Amino acid sequence: MRRRLPDTCVHWGSDSGLVEAGQTRPARTSEGERYGHDRVVAGRFAGLTDALDAAAVGEGLPQEDACRLIRAEGDALQAMLSAAGSLRDRRTDRVVTYSRKVFIPLTNLCRDNCGYCTFVRRPGDPRVHTMTPQEVLAVAEAGRNAGCKEALFSLGDKPELKYPAYRDWLAERGYSSTIAYLRDMCALVLAETGLLPHANPGVMTREDIVTLRDVNVSMGMMLEGTSPALLAKGGAHRGSRDKTPAARLATIVAAGELAVPFTTGILIGIGETPEERVDALFAIKEIHDRYGHVQEVIIQNFRAKPDIRMRDWPEPGPLEMVRTIAVARLIFGDTINVQAPPNLALAEYGAYLEAGLNDWGGISPVTRDHINPERAWPALDRLRAAMADAGFELRERLGIYPEYVRQAERFLDPALQGRVRALTDDAGLVRREEEQWT
Ligand code: SF4
Repeated sequence: MRRRLPDTCVHWGSDSGLVEAGQTRPARTSEGERYGHDRVVAGRFAGLTDALDAAAVGEGLPQEDACRLIRAEGDALQAMLSAAGSLRDRRTDRVVTYSRKVFIPLTNLCRDNCGYCTFVRRPGDPRVHTMTPQEVLAVAEAGRNAGCKEALFSLGDKPELKYPAYRDWLAERGYSSTIAYLRDMCALVLAETGLLPHANPGVMTREDIVTLRDVNVSMGMMLEGTSPALLAKGGAHRGSRDKTPAARLATIVAAGELAVPFTTGILIGIGETPEERVDALFAIKEIHDRYGHVQEVIIQNFRAKPDIRMRDWPEPGPLEMVRTIAVARLIFGDTINVQAPPNLALAEYGAYLEAGLNDWGGISPVTRDHINPERAWPALDRLRAAMADAGFELRERLGIYPEYVRQAERFLDPALQGRVRALTDDAGLVRREEEQWT
């Protein structure tokens, strides 16, 4: 049954950001009615009422309208949030999900050089590390003992093409590529612990994806953005050949052709315009419309850190995050889950929920976020209580989303189907008796 949001909630102000107001929001109307859109009739947002009405019932949003709404404010912003929240409720009701995982940073070597990266290390740095099978297994076992179901493998992109010493390290162990080593580590974790791997090795060829498919319930790679400015001199992706949008979009296409449930997303605030964020979201949607395999789009905000090239770069504000989440929700219509990392949240969780978010991604009770090590995961019992206060139930999902669990014959290798079914209920969520909240 649908419940109303609490009447006291975040109030949306101007571009200056969020204002905790304790004021009364306009009441959400029943499905099919206008969500306060009749107030969006004047000024530079005139004419969007019909577009929001259609988007709120899952019919999608034209790119031209999305480009206007990505800068929405005032009544237009409120109407957009109402439409996005209503659409989320149509898709997933008042259930918000997360995946209980361990994070396995297989190697922190990478051939690329992104301006915001804190994960990568260069040869000569004492912190360079490639995990041995024993180390991989130790982390996975700790995760299994803590009730985790997902093993997220995160690693740099093709370091063997740049670093001879690492290439030798692989060769000594019988591997010609990082992908080949990754495949064996996924198989090891699956066989020894039952954790379900989700590999995130960067740009992948069709052959790479075939190599990994029978030992991964899903795979991932952030698109990040499609703006040409990111690769230009001084841009966030200058010197990162694997961040070419064409290469990344080709990976998402290959995953679609091979029916691999795929996680992708955009990184906001790294030098793109709001309209270019919309362009990236539409690029994802276009591929998903062809293959139906994009299970999740992450809206991730750039965070400045002292040890990165972009240390002085301004961070995006909370309003930019909320607008992007809402526009994404409306663009994707009745498909694709929208996620934002809770440990990077710029606003109250309720603000993201109001914008149509329905997932908090992977949260680990065992390992830190190796990409954002200074940002601790929220305690699960507290996140669950915060969701309940906002009128939502937090449920655990696997590394493969429920709608893909329900289509396992198409989207999962037969070798993985039994384990996934044993962990999930009829809806495709983790069985309640398997959930833990500490
Ligand atoms: S590709 Fe990934 S690991 Fe490599 S430098 Fe860029 S963000 Fe870091």
